[in-house]
Amino acid sequence: MSQDYPTISLDEAWRRIAAAVRPLPPRLIPLAEALGCVLAQDVQATENMPPFAASAMDGYAVIAADATPSRRVIGEQTAGRQLPLRVEPGAAARIMTGAPLPEGADAVIKVEDSVEQDGWVRFTAAVPAGRDVRPAGQDVAAGEVVLERGAVLGPAEIGLLATVGRIAVLAHPRPRVAVMATGDELVAPDQQPGPGQIRDSNSYALLAAVQAAGCQAIHLGRIPDDEQALRAAMLSGLAQADALITSGGVSMGTRDLVKPLLEELGAVHFGKVASRPGKPFTFATVQGKPVFGLPGFPVSSLVTFENMVRPALRIMGGHARLRRPRVMARLSHAIRHAPDRTEFQRAVVAQRDGAYWAATTGVQVSGRLKSMAGANALLELPAGVSDFAQGQEAVAILITLPEVD
Ligand code: AMP
Ligand code: MG
Repeated sequence: MSQDYPTISLDEAWRRIAAAVRPLPPRLIPLAEALGCVLAQDVQATENMPPFAASAMDGYAVIAADATPSRRVIGEQTAGRQLPLRVEPGAAARIMTGAPLPEGADAVIKVEDSVEQDGWVRFTAAVPAGRDVRPAGQDVAAGEVVLERGAVLGPAEIGLLATVGRIAVLAHPRPRVAVMATGDELVAPDQQPGPGQIRDSNSYALLAAVQAAGCQAIHLGRIPDDEQALRAAMLSGLAQADALITSGGVSMGTRDLVKPLLEELGAVHFGKVASRPGKPFTFATVQGKPVFGLPGFPVSSLVTFENMVRPALRIMGGHARLRRPRVMARLSHAIRHAPDRTEFQRAVVAQRDGAYWAATTGVQVSGRLKSMAGANALLELPAGVSDFAQGQEAVAILITLPEVD
């Protein structure tokens, strides 16, 4: 059995984790694989966008100051080519959206304000110079920094990279995270559990959580509570991944072998946290890589993943924003809470009459995964405070919204 670990606060646990993880070194990442990655360099445009003065409308390229009532149509400038047209007073050129403005013209009159017949066009509206012309460099100017180091690459950012001609970009790679479930009782979900057995749900829940955190998930499988098998699986996981997650085997039982093994292979930074659920949550480093020993109860493993592992993986991915939005929510019903530890109750938060209201998802025992399904918030009920009354406010961590700070 493993040595007894002091129970530390969540803040202290996070301090120890944050001190042990750092962003993965940047790599050249192709645009098609860059979604969600964090840029590790400033990106500058070398050319203007649009590269030429372009029409913003389908209509006619004109000289704005030209008052000629009926103007000769000298040609049609469509997008994707540049005709040798020149607009003189008394003339106009048909032009399409995105087409380069012909020489001489300084405005576009949209087709809705025109009547064209037999090669001549009359306009029902006058326009000032510059109307419906997108000047060269309006969207992006040559030399402009379009994205700064630290930017998270979403659809718009990836579009901008393509605009400035980047097909690959220096960014932090997605952390590779290996997941293993431990426990003699576990069988695959497609198996019928025998006497004393249960289906392994943590592997799949945690692999999904890893992917939802923008990481690459590697499944190491179900490992029996056997020292040799666990050691081999841990070493194999560490060889393939930047971080390792285990589930189960961190409590006080005689078959809880994860902590002593981590002590043997590396350094255990803590083995108990004042959190409900998730007290036996363990954090170690082995070969310089973080290892998160999550408790086996399905809710405990997902809640500790949310509170501790996800922000750590985000640091590794180069993210600066680590914390989900938090709001004060009024409780739709009274909540019982033991004041010995910080508790995270699963809840559904909704907005009603300009206020946030929270209702918990029913029985909050840590084996009941249904209490997490459909929840969009964790109610953070602090240590030192006991029961909450209906209508009282509590901190709600909005776990389906992206991190804001
Ligand atoms: P442990 O942390 O290993 O003591 O496990 C605590 C509880 O969680 C036990 O009831 C286990 O059967 C259950 N458990 C452990 N691992 C899993 C898993 N991968 N999937 C579902 N339940 C699990
Ligand atoms: Mg176990």
